[in-house]
Amino acid sequence: MALIVHKYGGTSMGSTERISQVAKRVAKWARAGHQMVVVPSAMSGETNRLLALAKALSPAQVTQDHLRELDMLAATGEQASSALLAIALQAEGMPAISYAGWQVPVRTNDAYTKARIESIDDQRVRADLNAGKVVIITGFQGVDDAGHVTTLGRGGSDTSAVAVAAALKANECLIYTDVDGVYTTDPRVVPEARRLKTVSFEEMLEMASLGSKVLQIRSVEFAGKYKVPLRVLSSFTPWDIDIHEEAASGTLITFEEDEQMEQAVVSGIAFNRDEAKISIMGVPDKPGIAYQILGAVAQANIEVDMIIQNISKDGKTDFSFTVHRNDYARAMDLLKAHVLPSLGAPEVMGDAKICKVSIVGIGMRSHVGVASKMFRSLSEEGINIQMISTSEIKTSVVIDEKYMELAVRALHKAFDLDQNQA
Ligand code: ADP
Ligand code: ASP
Ligand code: MG
Repeated sequence: MALIVHKYGGTSMGSTERISQVAKRVAKWARAGHQMVVVPSAMSGETNRLLALAKALSPAQVTQDHLRELDMLAATGEQASSALLAIALQAEGMPAISYAGWQVPVRTNDAYTKARIESIDDQRVRADLNAGKVVIITGFQGVDDAGHVTTLGRGGSDTSAVAVAAALKANECLIYTDVDGVYTTDPRVVPEARRLKTVSFEEMLEMASLGSKVLQIRSVEFAGKYKVPLRVLSSFTPWDIDIHEEAASGTLITFEEDEQMEQAVVSGIAFNRDEAKISIMGVPDKPGIAYQILGAVAQANIEVDMIIQNISKDGKTDFSFTVHRNDYARAMDLLKAHVLPSLGAPEVMGDAKICKVSIVGIGMRSHVGVASKMFRSLSEEGINIQMISTSEIKTSVVIDEKYMELAVRALHKAFDLDQNQA
């Protein structure tokens, strides 16, 4: 008998029919003798619907009070889907109980809308498991020290599931979603994308951080920190397929590099349309300038991703960086009002229609010429590269958003990702 955590995403929980399929699948696992904890997302579209209601009432608020209410609101999506799943399981004759984050409790810090899990109390859950119940814990949410409901950021149910698995020392955490595993790139953009049977933890971490939304990055970090065996698989296979076949399907995240993985130089391509670029032209090239610009941005709690400073000409230089698109307007306002005047009012230009495309692979460590192959392939398509950043196992470029799909397809082909590799 094992303790298994299942996580079901929004599409997997998208209707009462889907929820009933999930209940049948979970009941199958429980009847096979496993202790089962299930972490559902809200029904698909529900989180967006709720947040749009808030926006209709109050378009551009960023106060703590407002963010607190957004979390109160958004958390209801998971509370509803969790209760519905418990009801569906009970209807299957399977004892089940659902808990909201605060009831477990799943303790987080108080950073509303992007809270981080600090600890999870396992007492109540264990007692129910020992009493033979399936335990359902809402994804995406927790409670802070003062008792306020918090949420973990979009896609946060993945993190809830892995954190629950870590807290319970589960044998495995299975992330059920609307694709049958982790692919070389988003199969909705490149139909030739291939499913990876295994992907290394490091690669998955990069892919998640660079935009592959199949797993929220925090969930991968948790899996790494607590060595939670993690698998991504489809919730759209028939619920009654052989349990051993199901358990071996999808993509396993591995923690050890094996020879097979070293063969692929590039394992995947990630992309992300969530950033915007800000360029400041003609800033004085002297010590302290980067700090003056980026210090102010950081103080406003705006995260910066890529940064480029050009060589100087006549004592002046150009400085560009990217921020999340949601923070773009705020960053521009802040620079114009508070930073640029003290720099001799250089020109500032912004571009929100950019995207970041990245190639990822642990094989890049031991191969040269990978980045130049990427640049060649983009140039053959006539795509201009605006910014570049590299690390040991990834190269990212910023390009015009309108070329995103073309770039991803070209790179997928250039690195033979559509070919079966060993
Ligand atoms: P869920 O609601 O189950 O959490 P998400 O929509 O958050 O599902 O994540 C699954 C989606 O991630 C897929 O439908 C797919 O379009 C997208 N995706 C992006 N990159 C990849 C990738 N490399 N492999 C698989 N899916 C990917
Ligand atoms: N329901 C939340 C969202 O849509 C969390 C999740 O689905 O993982 O972002
Ligand atoms: Mg998701």
